[in-house]
Formats: sequence, structure tokens, C-alpha cells
Amino acid sequence: MNTHSTAEQLSTREIQALDSAHFIHPFTDHGDLATRGARVITRSDGIYIWDSEGEKLLDAMSGLWCVNAGYGRKALAEAAYEQMMTLPFYNSFFQTTNVPAVKLATRLAALAPKVGDRSFEHVFFSSSGSESNDSNVRMVRRYWDLLGQPQRKVIISRHNAYHGSTMAGASLGGMSGMHAQGDLPIPNITHIGQPYFFEDGKPGETADAFGVRAAGWLEDKILEVGPDKVAAFIAEPIQGAGGVIIPPATYWPEIQRIVDKYGILLISDEVICAFGRLGHWFAYERFGYKPDLVTFAKAVTSGYIPLGGVMVGNRVAKVLIEQGGEFNHGYTYSGHPVACAVALANLDIMEAEQLPQRVRGEMGDYFAKRFLALKDHPLVGDAETCGFVAGLVLVKNKQTKQRFNPDDAVGMICRGHCFRNGLIMRAVGDRMIIAPPLTMTHADIDELLRLIHQALDLTQADLH
Ligand code: PLP
Repeated sequence: MNTHSTAEQLSTREIQALDSAHFIHPFTDHGDLATRGARVITRSDGIYIWDSEGEKLLDAMSGLWCVNAGYGRKALAEAAYEQMMTLPFYNSFFQTTNVPAVKLATRLAALAPKVGDRSFEHVFFSSSGSESNDSNVRMVRRYWDLLGQPQRKVIISRHNAYHGSTMAGASLGGMSGMHAQGDLPIPNITHIGQPYFFEDGKPGETADAFGVRAAGWLEDKILEVGPDKVAAFIAEPIQGAGGVIIPPATYWPEIQRIVDKYGILLISDEVICAFGRLGHWFAYERFGYKPDLVTFAKAVTSGYIPLGGVMVGNRVAKVLIEQGGEFNHGYTYSGHPVACAVALANLDIMEAEQLPQRVRGEMGDYFAKRFLALKDHPLVGDAETCGFVAGLVLVKNKQTKQRFNPDDAVGMICRGHCFRNGLIMRAVGDRMIIAPPLTMTHADIDELLRLIHQALDLTQADLH
């Protein structure tokens, strides 16, 4: 019995009962789930998904920031089938390799732009963003050990960052709710503030001045920890799960100046932002900074199959490879041939359809123009976009920008209206965020904005 026929044979209520009885979901309150029952998603096409009751939803979150090429791509299924029939699995430990992994590493190295003296000729593969960030911690520590500076262990991250859900990933992340469960962060990880101008900008301060001030928190932290103890700084180009926090233009250049000044490694966590999301293959290109390590996952396969990894810049790769001997680290599925074959087919689609170019070209401009017009809505305090990522903040008073109380659960109210009216939009506190597939047409963008307007109007009606 395949999954499709299971969905056909079981009623929604039966699936929900089994789901609640047996399936522990990520980031889910299971008491709530048992009462309400999960929404059962059964099929997809293009930018839409359908549930088991036949309701159609425009998926403005691309699954979970990953289905950049859209749903229903036969070429990706065919690539997986062909590879499974040829070589479904072999490991890449102990001096073996496979052709799709070699081809993908070569292709990613060619796609990653060289910036200044930094280039990316090497790739380490994992199966997720979390694993990749664990690997980053291992590689960073190994790097400084090999250079005779084992005391450099502290990695600085930011509050409200999301870097995954493993022990190291959740520790690197700055989510207080995650830290509160399980004694996190683990030692040698510390956090600074996020560059959220709407929240932390001072009266009269420009965004550019705030960007420099927020970057300065990194220098303050380096001095507090002791410059000789700091190993690396990790950050998302744009904080995604934290609510689409887009830094002012001055932020990244100042961060670059600071990491260069103290010689610490820079890790760009591009699990959300790479592969066209910001209009480039890699997001550091969009902001013009020079990372040493770049975390990727999600859209490398458009989410069709799990794959992640780290682009290892020449500064780190040279030391690990030339001085390191065997690195005692790796995953069974590092360089999984089927995942790599799907990634190659996904990159073929992105190249043929010029998805990054679309996002940084006219389609991106149209998306930005339509989304930014939401600033006129009475409930919206601010709206921002960067490529095909966008966020807005819901406010109680548009003139004074007074925020709602967390107890008002305004984001969840709005999300509920989206969900009931055919739109997947995510709520992070009082922020509503989207990251739609990069294949959106003008008509799709118009429909998306119609649905967002409708949800905002319904939320407004509930609150006043
Ligand atoms: N890093 C970032 C920036 C992410 O957004 C995520 C997931 O959303 C991760 C890491 C973790 O990736 P995964 O869920 O594949 O482990």
C-alpha cells in the first residue's frame, strides 16, 4: 500500500487520530494537536498544496523555505529514480566516492563566487542544516587546533538566530525557548543582539547608523570574551526563522571589518538564503562579505530530498586538508548519491529558468513593489523585502508604531485567517513572513497579495 492510497483509504479524522497517537512532530504542542488534529497535506503542484479535504493553499513559505523551484518537478523525481536504479547508496568514507557527489561538489565550487582573497573549492556534505552547523563547529575547532591556537573556542552568534535543532545547532541559535529546554547553550557559544532596526533603532537614529551600532556589538563581545579566545562569528545573511530581520546596508561591511580586525572566522548560514532566494546562488554575494564557511541545505534540492553541507573556503580548507591528516568526522549520508543527483537536476532547472536572475530582476522588483504597498494597510507598521523573502510587522497603532502585547497573539490570529482562506504565511510573534517559490509569475504575485490583504482585513476586523 503506497502513501497515496493510504491517504485515499483513510478519512481525515482517521489519519489525524493515528497521527496524534504515533507521530511526534517537530516544534508542536501535542496537547493542541490532539484536540484540533493536524492538517493533512496530501499533494502539490507549482506554488500550491492541497489538504486531505481537497482545500487548495498557496504555499508562500515554499514548504519550509526550501521548495525554490516549485512543486511537481518531474525531472527531480526522474533523477532520483535513475540514480536509485544505478547506485542508490554508497558511503564516501575511507577513500571511496560516487559520481553525483563529485559532480555536485565541483558544480557548487564553480557557482560560489570568489570574493577578495576567499574562494570555495571544497564542499563537505551532510543531510541537513543542523548537521552542517555541527560540522562547522567541528571544523572551526579543528582549524584553530591545527594552527596551534586551541584556546580559540568561542563562537559568537546572535539572539533570535536559528541554526538548527541539534545540540550545537540549537546552541548556536539564539532562540530562548530552545535554550530553556535542555541546558543550552553548550559551553563556548555566546550571543549578541540582532540587527532589528524597527525594534532597537533609537529615536532619530537612521537605519545606517543603527547598522554600524548593531555590528559594533560583535566587537564589544570579542573584547569581553578576549580576542585570543574567539574562534568564529556565525550569522544568517537575513535572519529567517527569527522573523525575516533584514539588516541595514551598513551592517555586513562593518561586521566584515571587525572579523578581519580580529582574524576570526566568519560563518554565513545560508540554509534559507542560498540558491536564488536573494537573487544570487549564495547570499554573501548579495551583501558583499567574505565568509570562510557557508552552510547550505533546503533549496539545494528544492527540498525534494534531504541534503545539506558546508562550502569550505580556501583559508580553512588549506589547513584542514594540508595539515590535518584524517578528520574524524562524517555522516553515513555525506555525499548521498541520490540526494546529490537530485541536487544536480535542481540546479539544472534553476539555471535553465534563470531563477536567481528572475529574483534580482523585474520579477523581484514587482514582488517588492506589491509587498511594500502593504505598508499602507492600517495594521502594518512596517514591511520589508529582500529578493523573495518578505516580512511585515503588525501594529496596534500605525501612527505611534505601538506594538501588540504578546498575549494578543496577533500573528497567530492573522496566520489562522491565512490558513482558512487558502494561504500559507508564517507568524513569528507580531511579524508575518513569506518566502514564496522563485517561480512565481506576475499573476501569482497578484493572487498572493490579494490573499494577504484579505487576511489582514479579517485580522483587523477581529481586533477592532
Ligand atoms: N540554519 C538556518 C538558517 C535555518 O533556517 C535552518 C532551518 O530552518 C537550519 C539551519 C536547520 O536546518 P535543518 O532543519 O535542515 O536542520
